[in-house]
Amino acid sequence: MTWVKTLDLIEPGELRIPTHGSLPVLQLLIHQGFACTVGSHESCSTLTCSQKKIEIHLSKVHGWAKKHDTTLWRALWMQHFFHSSSPTGCHYFEVKKEEEEGQGQG
Ligand SMILES: [Zn+2]
Repeated sequence: MTWVKTLDLIEPGELRIPTHGSLPVLQLLIHQGFACTVGSHESCSTLTCSQKKIEIHLSKVHGWAKKHDTTLWRALWMQHFFHSSSPTGCHYFEVKKEEEEGQGQG
């Protein structure tokens, strides 16, 4: 019986990043992430792994300041293929995550 499956190794350059909002890749960890929501979703889809970083992005790129008391980011779930120390950078992409059960208020 040949039940052992071999994994296909893909060169990083050939790897296709899933489109935002696709289903999670099971083999990858799911992280809490933050996305810039300035402009349309298409024009600036910057994803970061921390609220601090998205605030820095907003400040540098969009001239946002914390004192404005506006929230120009949203929390989401995301995955990434490469480690943040990878020379190709960390390619985050948004994934859908099933709603957590509970919290039956309202
Ligand atoms: Zn932005």
